Amino acid sequence: MSAATTKTARPRIGAEAIAGKGWLGAHNWLILRRLSQLGILALFLAGPWFGVWIVKGNLSSSLTLDLLPLTDPFLLAQSLAAGTLPYKEALIGAGIVVAFYLAVGGRVFCSWVCPMNLVTDAAAWLRRRLGLKGGKIPSGDTRYWLLGFMLLAAFATGSLAWEWVNPVSMLHRGLIFGFGLAWGIVGGVFLYDLLIATRGWCGHLCPMGAFYSLLGSTALVRVSAAHRSACDDCMDCFAVCPEPQVIRPALKAAGQDHPVILDRNCTNCGRCIDVCGKNVFRITTRFDRSES
Ligand code: SF4
Ligand code: SF4
Repeated sequence: MSAATTKTARPRIGAEAIAGKGWLGAHNWLILRRLSQLGILALFLAGPWFGVWIVKGNLSSSLTLDLLPLTDPFLLAQSLAAGTLPYKEALIGAGIVVAFYLAVGGRVFCSWVCPMNLVTDAAAWLRRRLGLKGGKIPSGDTRYWLLGFMLLAAFATGSLAWEWVNPVSMLHRGLIFGFGLAWGIVGGVFLYDLLIATRGWCGHLCPMGAFYSLLGSTALVRVSAAHRSACDDCMDCFAVCPEPQVIRPALKAAGQDHPVILDRNCTNCGRCIDVCGKNVFRITTRFDRSES
C-alpha cells in the first residue's frame, strides 16, 4: 500500500452531515437559496428575454405586477448624496426594502438575492476543491471605507458613480445585453476571489454588502449555535461560512455568554446549519438565547 493511501485523509467538508442527514438534508438551505437567487433572476429576465413582464426593472429599482415598487436603499442613498430628489414611488420602494431587511437581516440580500453570490460562491468552491491557499486579503473594514467613498463620489460628481462599476448591475446588464465590459468585471471578481483573496469581494470589498450589513445590524432573524455543547471541532462550518469570523463568539463563547450569532455580517445563508453533522446550528431570533 502506498504512503498516500495509508495517510488518514481529512473527510470532505460536510461528509458527516451527509452521512447523518442524507444529501438533501445536508443541502437544504443551499438548495432553497439557489432557488431564491435563480427565481428572482428569472423574474427579472423573463421580461427582456420572453416578453413576460411580471417584474419590470432590475435589482436597483423595480415594479412587480405594476403594483409593488421596490428600490435599493443604497441606490437611494447615492441618489440623495448626488443631490437628486427621488420620486415618491422610489421612497415607498426603499421603505419596503428597508423594513424587510431590518427584520430578516440586511445581508440576506447577499445570500438570498444578489446574483453575484453565485459567482463568488463558485470561486470559493473551486478554491476549496483546488486546495488554493494564501493570497492577500484586505481588511474587512475596507468595504465600509469604500461605502463612504462611493457616497462621497456621488456627492462630488452629482451622479451614481458606483453604478458604473457595480458588479451586481453589470451582471444583470451582461445577462440581458450580453456585451463585453460587464462580463470583464464579473470575471474579474471571480478571478480575484479564486486566485488572490478568499471570499475577497463579498467579505472585504463590496460597498453594497457593507451597506446591507449596516442595515441589518439589529435584525430579528438570527442563526444560533444553540447545541454548541455537541461541537466536535471539525471546522466544517468555518470552512463553508462566507464570513467565518462571525461564528467564533457564538460557538466558542468568545466574548459573549450566549450562542446567538449577532455579527451584522452573518448572511443568514444557513450553510453552517447544512454542513454541521452534530446539528449545532439553527435559525431563531436574536432574543432566543437558549441552549439545547
Ligand atoms: S457583498 Fe456585494 S456582490 Fe457580494 S453578495 Fe453582497 S451585494 Fe452581492
Ligand atoms: S454563520 Fe452560518 S448563516 Fe451566518 S454567514 Fe456563516 S454559514 Fe451563513
